[in-house]
Amino acid sequence: DAPVITIDGPGGAGKGTVSALISEALGWHLLDSGALYRLTALAANRKGVALDDEPAVAALAESLPVAFIAAEGGARIELAGVEVSQTIRNEQVGADASVIAALPSVRTALLARQRAFRRAPGLVADGRDMGTVVFPDAPLKVFLTASAEERARRRYGQLRENGGSATLQSLLEEIRVRDERDRNRAVSPLKPAADAITIDSTELEIPEVVARIRALLAE
Ligand code: C5P
Repeated sequence: DAPVITIDGPGGAGKGTVSALISEALGWHLLDSGALYRLTALAANRKGVALDDEPAVAALAESLPVAFIAAEGGARIELAGVEVSQTIRNEQVGADASVIAALPSVRTALLARQRAFRRAPGLVADGRDMGTVVFPDAPLKVFLTASAEERARRRYGQLRENGGSATLQSLLEEIRVRDERDRNRAVSPLKPAADAITIDSTELEIPEVVARIRALLAE
């Protein structure tokens, strides 16, 4: 099997940016597994499927008409042929994604789709359960964290750039709720794999995190 680097951790720790930079530097494939949960939530909303209708949401996840098209500065993501790269990043879709991610049959439905990203020369897999459930045999597992306050500050900065109006306090509150839900769900709760190396990025810049992971890969 092709090698995999798993990068798990809570939202806002910098996993997305770090994973994209490492995959680019190595020329490896990239799996943004959070996007699959976000796309499933978006598809449910668009089809009027209730987020607690587990069989219906799992059926949507199973047959998600999604395309990840390589593009300058990150993949262009399409749902049923319509670009949703920006839409899936909004706070509401993220909150809905964390709700449907707690449904066991939704997680099972997305498993094969995620594993199909593992192709030569290698894969960088970004998520919550990449090292624990999806790629338990990955040779390098990273758990990337940062304090909730720092993650809220980063998110606040990003949203301000995009003209968002959320307050720092409301973002911190949302991050705490989402962390709580991701850590306490019955299936695939957010936690480091036993053999993961934890990197706390609270006081690290992105290039430093990338350098540390690349150094671990070279070991
Ligand atoms: O990482 P991102 O914020 O895009 O993920 C959105 C939500 O999807 C997370 O809050 C989490 O509940 C869920 N998720 C998951 N397992 C993954 C990736 C994301 O449960 N591997």
